[in-house]
Amino acid sequence: MTEESTAAQGPITDGFHLLIDALKLNGLNTIYNVPGIPITDLGRYAQGEGIRVLSFRHEQNAGNAAAIAGYLTKKPGICMTVSAPGFLNGLTALAHATTNCWPMILISGSSEREVVDLMQGDYEEMDQLAIAKPLCKAAFRILHAEDIGIGVARAIRAAVSGRPGGVYLDIPGSLLGQVMDAAEGEKSLVKVIDPAPAQIPAPDAVARAIEVLISARKPLIILGKGAAYAQADDLVRELVEKSGIPYLPMSMAKGLLPDTHVQSASAARSMVLKESDVVLMVGARLNWLLSHGKSKQWGEPHSKKFIQIDIEPREMDSNIEIAAPLVGDIGSVASALIDAMGDDWQKAPEEWTSAVRTKVVGNVERMASRLQNNSNPMDYNAALGALKNIIKDRPDAILVNEGANTLDFARSIIDIYKPRKRLDVGTWGVMGIGMGSAIAAAVETGKPVLAVEGDSAFGFSGMEVETICRYNLPICVVVFNNNGIYRGDGVNRSGGEDPATTSFVEGARYDLMMQAFGGVGITANTPDELTRAVAEAMDSGKPTLVNTVIDPKAGKESGNIGSLNPTSIVADARAAAKAQV
Ligand code: ADP
Ligand code: MG
Repeated sequence: MTEESTAAQGPITDGFHLLIDALKLNGLNTIYNVPGIPITDLGRYAQGEGIRVLSFRHEQNAGNAAAIAGYLTKKPGICMTVSAPGFLNGLTALAHATTNCWPMILISGSSEREVVDLMQGDYEEMDQLAIAKPLCKAAFRILHAEDIGIGVARAIRAAVSGRPGGVYLDIPGSLLGQVMDAAEGEKSLVKVIDPAPAQIPAPDAVARAIEVLISARKPLIILGKGAAYAQADDLVRELVEKSGIPYLPMSMAKGLLPDTHVQSASAARSMVLKESDVVLMVGARLNWLLSHGKSKQWGEPHSKKFIQIDIEPREMDSNIEIAAPLVGDIGSVASALIDAMGDDWQKAPEEWTSAVRTKVVGNVERMASRLQNNSNPMDYNAALGALKNIIKDRPDAILVNEGANTLDFARSIIDIYKPRKRLDVGTWGVMGIGMGSAIAAAVETGKPVLAVEGDSAFGFSGMEVETICRYNLPICVVVFNNNGIYRGDGVNRSGGEDPATTSFVEGARYDLMMQAFGGVGITANTPDELTRAVAEAMDSGKPTLVNTVIDPKAGKESGNIGSLNPTSIVADARAAAKAQV
C-alpha cells in the first residue's frame, strides 16, 4: 500500500497504539517495565498517552512490582520486558504471582517468529511462549494488529477470573509496527465486562458447613491472603465476629481484622492448631506454611474437621480430607454463611474462647518486656520493638518485609491494623520481592511504605533505590545489617582466608547507597536512633534508607524454617571426630 492510498483511506492506527488503547480501555493505567528492544517506543508512547510507566533497573523487580500491584488492586499488574533474557528475568515474578494466586500480565517483546521457529539464530532468539506456558496460568501470542483487542481481553480474563494468576502475552516486535484503519482498530478493542464474576456457593454446601460448625467445641478460623485479596473486608469481619471463633491470620492476612482484636489467636498459635476440633479455612491453603494440615503441630493423629472456603474447587482435599468444601468467592460465601447462621447463632463455647484469650494475653505480656531491651548492638526484638510503635502510630502505612530472621520476628512482633498493609515473601518464601513490592505499594496506594529488610534479602533488589529516588516515592527502607545471611558470624571451615559462605562485608554502609541517588541515608545503632530516623522518613515521605546495625550473633539458621535444611551425617561425624582430637 502506498502512503497516498493510506491517506486516501483516512486515519490509521498501529500495533503500538492499539495495545496502549486496549490497556487503557480496561483501566490498566500503570506499567512496570525495563525498556529495550523491541519495547522501548511502546513505553514511550504509553507514557505519552497518559499511562504511568515506571522504569526499573532489573525485570525481576518490575515483575515483583506488577505481581503485588495485582494483589493490591484486583486488576492484573502489568510488567513489560524485552525479549529472551529480559523475558526470563520477568518470568520469575510471573511464576511467583501465579503461585500466590495474584493477577498479573507479563508482556514481553519477542524476535521474528519466522526466524525463531526455524532456529536460525535471531537477535535474542527464544520460543518465549513455549517456555512461559508451564509457569503461568495462561499464555497467548498476538500476531495480527486486529487481534490485539481480543488478545488483551483474553489475558485480563485469564488473570483475574476464578483463582487469579499470571498470564504471559507474547508480542513479536513486528506486531507493533503493523498498521490498520483507525476506525476498524477502535472497533476491534474489547472492554472486558465483569472480568471476575461472583461465584455463589451451592446452598447444600453452605448447610453442610453450618452443620459442621455447630458440632464444634473448639473451633478455629484461619484467614489467608486469598481473603485479603477478595476485598470483602466487612463481610470477613462480620463472619469472624458473629461466630465468636478465635482466628489465626496467615502473614499477609494480618490486619484483615486488627492484630489487637480480642479474637486474634496469633499469640496462641501452637495451642489453637493443636487443640482445635473444627477449622474453617478462609482463602488459605493447607500447604507447607500450615504443615499440610497434619504433623505434630496439628496434634497428629487428629480427627479435626476442616471447612474450606476457596474459589478453586481443586484446592479441596489437596492435602487432607475437607469435610465441608465451600467453593465460591470469599464475599459470596461469607455472606451466605452469615445469612445461614441466622439471628440466634450460638457463639463459640466460652470455655474454649476464654482459654485461648488467657494464653494470648500471657504470651503478649511476656513478649512486651523482651521488646524493650537495650542490648548493644541491637537484637531483633529491640529493633522491631521500635518499628512496632512506628506502625501502631501510622496504621495506614504499608509494611513490606523479607529476610529470614527479619521476616520471622517482624511477622510476629509488628501488629497490623488494616487489610492488605503487610506485603511479604508469599507462598514461596522468596527473597527479592522487597523493592519491587515497596515501589508498587507506594505507586498504587499513595501511602507511606516501610520496607523492613534483612541485609541479604535487600541485596536481591537493592539497586532499585535509584528507582525510588528517581520517582521520589515515600519509601523508608530499613536494612537489618548483621553482616550476613542468617547470622554474621559464620566461619570458613577450611580455615582459609575467604569469608564464610554466609558472610558479607562487615560494617557495610547501606545508607550510602540511598545517598548516592539523592535520598536520605542514616545509620542507626540504638532503638532511639532507629525510631527517630524512621519516624522522620515516614512523615516527610522522603526516600530514606536506615542502615540498622544488628548483632551478628542474633538470629538463627534459616529463621523459623531451619528444619527444611537437609542434614549431612558425614559432615556431622567429621565435626564430632575433629572435636575429639
Ligand atoms: P496464605 O498463604 O495466606 O495461606 P494462600 O495463598 O495459600 O494463602 O491461599 C489463598 C487461597 O485463596 C488460594 O487457594 C486461592 O484460590 C484463594 N482465593 C483467591 N482469591 C479468592 C477469592 N476471591 N475468593 C475465594 N478464594 C480466593
Ligand atoms: Mg542478615
